Amino acid sequence: MALKALMYHYVRSDREDLPYFKHLHIEDFRRQLDWLAASEGFADRAAFMEALEGGPLPDGVVLTFDDGFADHHDHVLPELERRGLWGIFYVPTGPLAGETMLDVHRVHLLLGRHDATTVAARLQHEISDDMIDQEKKEEFRKQTYKWQRNPDDVLFVKRMLNYFLLPQHRGAVLDELMKHFFGAEEETLLAELYMKPAQVRALHEAGMIVGSHTVSHPVMSRLPTAEQEREIADSVTFLENILEERIITFCYPYGGKATFTDETERLLTKHGIRFSFAVEPRDIAANDLRARPQALPRYDCNMFPHGQCRN
Ligand SMILES: [Zn+2]
Repeated sequence: MALKALMYHYVRSDREDLPYFKHLHIEDFRRQLDWLAASEGFADRAAFMEALEGGPLPDGVVLTFDDGFADHHDHVLPELERRGLWGIFYVPTGPLAGETMLDVHRVHLLLGRHDATTVAARLQHEISDDMIDQEKKEEFRKQTYKWQRNPDDVLFVKRMLNYFLLPQHRGAVLDELMKHFFGAEEETLLAELYMKPAQVRALHEAGMIVGSHTVSHPVMSRLPTAEQEREIADSVTFLENILEERIITFCYPYGGKATFTDETERLLTKHGIRFSFAVEPRDIAANDLRARPQALPRYDCNMFPHGQCRN
């Protein structure tokens, strides 16, 4: 037996207008909960909280849900309530405040609507050499060569938009792609993608834990300290105002080891955060809670039975 945290993103049924969209099907989510109940069990909420204060390590699974999707209110919450389970929901507050769609989710929608070859071709059309990070250019040339011989268009689109394009061009290129493929429909998709404040309140009132996931979902380690602090402080304040309760947990956007620093961990502690989740596929040990509660390991749900996307 052991203590494990699992990470989920989209949980929904298939949609005809997004035939390539990568998501965990709600039926597979139910099957996975059945499987977890039978094989691992679920960690008791009070016991988990006591473990953070030095109590014994509980066994079982802690469920976590990232990015503030309406999916979590509409599909996950009823399922957890039906089973008497609890979860932690990490909400980026920019989208919650009704701002724009996060770039990472615009890429998912682009690749969800059309086959990747179509998106890749349009992307090629929108970019020029001077928009690409010079330091990454050599790597880009090698990759492009590889892609031309053995085209992996999904990888090309993701790497270009998330990594090779200079940050100051990324937004504008995504604007053009969204305009081209979705037009005015982006507004509708934005309105239905994320939870509204009242839905986040409903999660909280149903006994779920709501945590910070920054304002704008940046790679924290790439930001100067002052900007990291603003991402943490502003998101915590926003959630505390909605919920009228202290926010004590956080999870890192993207979440791999390179996406945050000691400085980020220090800032989190300074702003009242008791524990934070990263992405690292291993169990939570007693020493993680004691020695480094701001970098707890967490598995992707796709590493366990029924947790994979269908398409
Ligand atoms: Zn995220």
